[in-house]
Amino acid sequence: METSPRAHVDSPDPASLPHVVVVGGGFAGVSAVRALAHQAVRVTLIDRHNFHTFLPLLYQVATAGLEPADVAYPIRTIFGHAKNVRVRHARVSDVERERNVVVLEDGTEISYDHLVVATGAVAAYFDIPGAKNYSMPLYTLANARRLRNRLLRSLEDAEVAAETVPKELNFVVVGGGPTGVETAGALSELIEIVIRRDGMKLDPVNVRIRLVDVASRLLTAFPDRASSYAREELESMGVDVELGRSVVEVEPHAIRFSDGERLEAGAVVWAGGVTAVGTIADQLEETSGPNGRALVNGDLRLRDSDNVWCVGDAAAIPQRGDPSKFYPQLAPVAIQSGLHCSKQILRLLEGEATEPFHYRDKGIMATIGRHAAVAKIPHVGVIRGTVGWMAWLGLHLWYLVGFRNRLRVFINWTWRYFDWPSGPRLIVADAETAK
Ligand SMILES: Cc1cc2nc3c(=O)[nH]c(=O)nc-3n(C[C@H](O)[C@H](O)[C@H](O)COP(=O)(O)OP(=O)(O)OC[C@H]3O[C@@H](n4cnc5c(N)ncnc54)[C@H](O)[C@@H]3O)c2cc1C
Repeated sequence: METSPRAHVDSPDPASLPHVVVVGGGFAGVSAVRALAHQAVRVTLIDRHNFHTFLPLLYQVATAGLEPADVAYPIRTIFGHAKNVRVRHARVSDVERERNVVVLEDGTEISYDHLVVATGAVAAYFDIPGAKNYSMPLYTLANARRLRNRLLRSLEDAEVAAETVPKELNFVVVGGGPTGVETAGALSELIEIVIRRDGMKLDPVNVRIRLVDVASRLLTAFPDRASSYAREELESMGVDVELGRSVVEVEPHAIRFSDGERLEAGAVVWAGGVTAVGTIADQLEETSGPNGRALVNGDLRLRDSDNVWCVGDAAAIPQRGDPSKFYPQLAPVAIQSGLHCSKQILRLLEGEATEPFHYRDKGIMATIGRHAAVAKIPHVGVIRGTVGWMAWLGLHLWYLVGFRNRLRVFINWTWRYFDWPSGPRLIVADAETAK
């Protein structure tokens, strides 16, 4: 990660340095703090978790391919060597902009000279009755562990039923974007493996994965042929792809569609999209941007502020050349906007004017099981098949925080490719994940 070659912190009185508070230790927050580490500022990074989560691999944890520790990394370890960075494990409940203060859940107030809001997004349920309570989102590590337990437990229950009155077990994945496609593919492999490797007696014909979306094709951000390829690959793995279907209600163990069908389901996985409504970003301005995202100027400051910045999924960042459109909520946008924002703070502190954000498009990717993937890469086009999968693997390893994590994930993936270790298939339920 690039860092600015500016003055290093060697002040006799660090308390006199400008204080930059960064809320959120995801891709955007970590990138912002990396650019401020060892610079002439005091930095406080606040996150409700004491770890950074690599969200693109959560579906691997949920489908028992990787362990939770493979996709998360302690925030303190990332910044342990930076003398000017403090890490605070706490949830921010409020921002009082007129007083330049953030308020933590326990009432503690922390004042700032510059505030960077990088709080990401949450699952969007579109007010569909029961969706929030009974479906299973995939946005945090706890979500992934809980989903994994539910999937494995449903298979255990179906195994018992298979001895007496076998019945169909449905897993429904709602949302045909990259998360839904990746989860459905990996789930199909998990089922195959527990039946074959772990000797389950239930008939695979009775276990169905249904990937549903209201759109007429999968992966709408990709070209048509990539969507068709993803569909063919998933269907060849036994996934039922049901497009043009709208979910109207989720019940404790069932889902209902607009055409009247009610389907009993072992789990309803919610991959229907994200929103910033209800998050800190949504509270920052009188009128928030699309989906509760904070509207920012080209330099990433709030439209009506000199010292509050918003980056990553939490921000509605106007596209250069067409400010009526906003950059998508993707990891590369988060990483680049976090870095840019910190560079602008340093420029301001040195009396220079800010510069507008310019996103360098890195492309988008989705895997379909262990052998195939689709990638749309600028100036290259669409890559698919095993080559796409290798590109996906390399890129994800590259972006994982921490050398130890990269090595461990690489080893775990290789091992899994040939052997399917049983460790991730343990049902270890605590109060939160047992639900
Ligand atoms: C399942 C899944 C798969 C994805 N796959 C891809 C992919 O393959 N490629 C891609 O480019 N993008 C992918 N994305 C999108 C990508 O992960 C996001 O764009 C990126 O994580 C946004 O980074 P961020 O830092 O803005 O937010 P996040 O990474 O969500 O980080 C936000 C941080 O803020 C913290 N936080 C939130 N509220 C508070 C609070 N009130 N107080 C304290 N801390 C708080 C959270 O704990 C979290 O650590 C995926 C997203 C998901 C959910």
